[in-house]
Amino acid sequence: MELKRLVKREVARLRAYQATEVPCRVKLDANESPYGFRVALKAAAAVRTNRYPDPEAKKLRKILAGELGVMPQNILQGNGSDEIIYNLVATYGGPVLYPVPTFSMYGIISQILGEKKVIVPLDREFDLDEGKMLKAIRKSRPKIVFLSSPNNPTGNCFSSDRILKIVEASQGIVVVDEAYQPFASEKGFLPLLKDYRNLVIMRTLSKIGLAALRFGFLAADEEIIEEVNKVRLPFNVNALSQAVAVEALKDRKALRTAVVAIAAERDRLMQAMEGIGEITPFPSEANFILFRVSDPAKVHAGLLRRGVLVRNVADAVKGCLRVTVGTPQENRIFLHALRSCTGKSS
Ligand code: PMP
Repeated sequence: MELKRLVKREVARLRAYQATEVPCRVKLDANESPYGFRVALKAAAAVRTNRYPDPEAKKLRKILAGELGVMPQNILQGNGSDEIIYNLVATYGGPVLYPVPTFSMYGIISQILGEKKVIVPLDREFDLDEGKMLKAIRKSRPKIVFLSSPNNPTGNCFSSDRILKIVEASQGIVVVDEAYQPFASEKGFLPLLKDYRNLVIMRTLSKIGLAALRFGFLAADEEIIEEVNKVRLPFNVNALSQAVAVEALKDRKALRTAVVAIAAERDRLMQAMEGIGEITPFPSEANFILFRVSDPAKVHAGLLRRGVLVRNVADAVKGCLRVTVGTPQENRIFLHALRSCTGKSS
């Protein structure tokens, strides 16, 4: 029996998301924070292991709503924002439109769910191509538009006025994925939620030191939350993650300090990378830097031989690798390795 033939065509054609553990000394491949919050783990001791978690994640949603200036009924919890993307596509269906290069899960999830994908290339500055985006929206009438800003893997924010034009032109919902917003110099789109009912903001705790918890969330009009909530599986955020996230969010100052340190370190790293003649780093508003090299596979392997793991994104952006900002010490090791494997003698 050929088991593969039983699989849905869309899934059979997919390649699994690349998330394998590669042994290394310095891990700078997954846009995680180098700073964790072990003290928050003490909250896990109070979890009653025999009981299901709060299905509505009430405490956590209340804290997040308070912080973002919305009501708890405007927040929807997810097992990472990946799950939120899944639930959005399951709720609204396609066509699903997004610019490329961008975060791969928009496309992967649309394909898994058998929805039509519409992709529009970014312009030369990695910004939204306003004309092409608006034309594609008029033509394909997407149910969902995903805009990652700051964008992964390019690192830049899209122009606010272009995002707004897209929100205004769309008959469907527009999801501004603000996974990296805490590291950006601009404010983000939360303040505009009240003005645009089809605007949806997606955030995650993964990039600010809590990736292990798998917690992401939506902020949107209550009507949107109610519909997506029908698709959300019961108890999707486990009790340990809820308890630890609530505890970690109590110490806003510690979270903020880590974010500020990473943003400052990113700017230092950028400067140092600009001084390496053989590479071209691109400006970043996120916790990672995209850079072009002459031979990405060779440099990726060379870095790994020296103990440093970065992400090879050359299939999405020609000739490019992506490095996550680590601790000052990790970044020094990365820079040293990069210099030695891009130098003439490598
Ligand atoms: N959106 C973007 C733009 C991302 O880069 C990522 C993580 N790589 C995610 C969403 C998913 O984050 P989470 O860990 O919350 O699933």
